[in-house]
Amino acid sequence: MSCKFNFSAGPAILPREVLTKAQSELLDCNGTGMSVMEMSHRGKEYAPIIKNAELKFKKLMNVPKNYKILFLQGGAVTQNFMVPMNLLNNRTASYVISGYWSKRTFTDAQPFLGANIAASSESINFSKAPNIDSWRYKKDDAYIHFCLNETVQGVEYFDDPNIKNVPIVCDMSSTILSRPIDVSRYGVIYAGAQKNIGPSGLTILIVRDDLLDFADKKTPSTLNWKIQSENNSMINTPASYGIYIAGLVFDWLFEQGGLGSIEKNNLKKSNYLYDFIDSTDFYINNVDVLNRSRMNVVFNIYNDDLTSEFLIGAEKNGLFGLKGHRIIGGASSLNI
Ligand SMILES: *Cc1c(COP(=O)(O)O)cnc(C)c1O
Repeated sequence: MSCKFNFSAGPAILPREVLTKAQSELLDCNGTGMSVMEMSHRGKEYAPIIKNAELKFKKLMNVPKNYKILFLQGGAVTQNFMVPMNLLNNRTASYVISGYWSKRTFTDAQPFLGANIAASSESINFSKAPNIDSWRYKKDDAYIHFCLNETVQGVEYFDDPNIKNVPIVCDMSSTILSRPIDVSRYGVIYAGAQKNIGPSGLTILIVRDDLLDFADKKTPSTLNWKIQSENNSMINTPASYGIYIAGLVFDWLFEQGGLGSIEKNNLKKSNYLYDFIDSTDFYINNVDVLNRSRMNVVFNIYNDDLTSEFLIGAEKNGLFGLKGHRIIGGASSLNI
């Protein structure tokens, strides 16, 4: 069987060891005589699977005790309206716009009223993330939203904001688990699973428990963080197989030495690529060196006429998923 080098941002490549283990357990998981896909999510066979995923995730991320983990659905983009529904409570909120995804988050929050722009780097084509010190927000904002790593533009923040008076809500879809972060600096962290965690269909959310009391009364139960939290993410059927695969990925991350080792590896890989890109006049990357993503190394070919030829040549050599996001085109090396 031949395997391709898959650089797609998401759904993204999963560790071979995880896929092999899932394959070996596909028809009979742990002597239950059932596939995980066939198990009742409320049964005794499934209980240790979701528990393992939750415990390992908390341990990997060093999640403090006063935070809840939710296994949700609808992808990261569904949080664009779940965040205001669960937190706004007739107040205002401030949004940092540092690329395609955070701009979309802000746009989706508009119908809720009260969403303001804290900072934006759109005028400089998102080549640098707005400095945390320059974010403008109100002391009585319900929250400040930002995206830690802009997948499409390859722009990443490397500092966890140290803002105490307003809760920080962060989209970490494409950088979660790639390095240690200080969860206590955040009120809410969420991520669609298909970039860095597991298969699509699962969204993981970490929420500080004092933030569970602000949901709009009209929030449906499946979208209400507090109700989901009180029901162990099972107010309806969760993405049970995705949670199982996520658990296997967490086990694998521990085998690699945890997030500290993973970070070293990611630094090595991304530095290798950026050093090479900078050493040529063939490839270019215009992102400020302080914000160059370690997860999504975006590059263009100086002579854009050669881009399609580059992509054809790459595929012939087994390198897939190098095409840039449909909104910006070009070539880009994604999810290394
Ligand atoms: C991919 C991505 C999303 C969209 O995720 P869905 O799960 O498809 O909704 C949102 N934010 C970031 C940063 C992403 O990389």
